[in-house]
Amino acid sequence: MRTRQRVLAAVTLVLAGALSAPASAVSAPAPTITSVAPRAYLWPHGATPRATKGPQQLAYAGGHQGHGVDTQPAVYLVFWGSQWSKTDPYAAYEKKFFAGLYGRGDDWTNSQSQYCEAVAAGSVDCPRKGPHVGPPSHRQVLKGVWFDDAQMALPTDVGVQIGTDGTGDTVAQEAVRAAQHFGNTTAARNRDAIYIINEPSHFDSPRFGLVYCAYHSALASSIGDVAYAAMPYVTDIENPAHAGLSCGQNMVNSGTAGTYDGVSIVAGHEYLEAVTDPWPSTGWVDAQGSETGDKCVWKASGPGAMDNVHLTTGTFAVQGMWSNLADNGQGQCVTHQRGSA
Ligand SMILES: [Zn+2]
Repeated sequence: MRTRQRVLAAVTLVLAGALSAPASAVSAPAPTITSVAPRAYLWPHGATPRATKGPQQLAYAGGHQGHGVDTQPAVYLVFWGSQWSKTDPYAAYEKKFFAGLYGRGDDWTNSQSQYCEAVAAGSVDCPRKGPHVGPPSHRQVLKGVWFDDAQMALPTDVGVQIGTDGTGDTVAQEAVRAAQHFGNTTAARNRDAIYIINEPSHFDSPRFGLVYCAYHSALASSIGDVAYAAMPYVTDIENPAHAGLSCGQNMVNSGTAGTYDGVSIVAGHEYLEAVTDPWPSTGWVDAQGSETGDKCVWKASGPGAMDNVHLTTGTFAVQGMWSNLADNGQGQCVTHQRGSA
């Protein structure tokens, strides 16, 4: 979604400083963050929806230093903070979801393979040849899982966005630590990497649930551009404090089968937006600033409605994504598509 830069608050500086020292010895010097992209928010179901009038198609916004889509995406799941239990079924569910993507039964990621980079800004279509949103190497997008229990995760979101003074918020800093942890210490290795920073239950970022279920962003650093998603413990929203709002629980499956529907709906949303708009909003966005998932978010009926995708690792709820090519080139939300677009 359209995003806002916010001024840095002193409290974030203090918080950031407190967390910058790694608990364990790290041989390489800590990377420095030099700038941060705007956040692209996923609003909760029940929060004020954005108007979606006007031109519908996603258009290429020109990229960020030549990078506009992930041609060979790589997902790293980080379960941040000592509050996490390694046996939490939430974490297992999310891990299986990403482990199964691009394998047999995945007809969900295909619709996004139509988007490309290296085309003129404003383009709404792509040549057949050239760099497109690609499948991951070895058709395995999940490249790493890390339970970072070195210290407690601490809330970061006090209503501020990171400044351009080189200081990231605590989630951004965790993304950089994750890149280091996985050995991705060059721009090339981070180019198509996406770090999904899962916050522990009751992390309670103040605006979680009110303004967002999750968001993705990116930062520039001494180890290259680092794309990341902040993924709150989305099932926390199902409580009276957030009455009328939801981040997807039971939206596709009823009962206990749907407890984690929102985990794959929300993480999947952020994933496919990160591959089509790695540095918000320089990739594929529409005239309102909506990304591919925003245009179809919480759609419960009709084309591109939320549904299950049946992977070799299990059944997972997902939402549709926008396809410029669908509906004879008029564009439409698409949940299932056989074969690459
Ligand atoms: Zn979004």
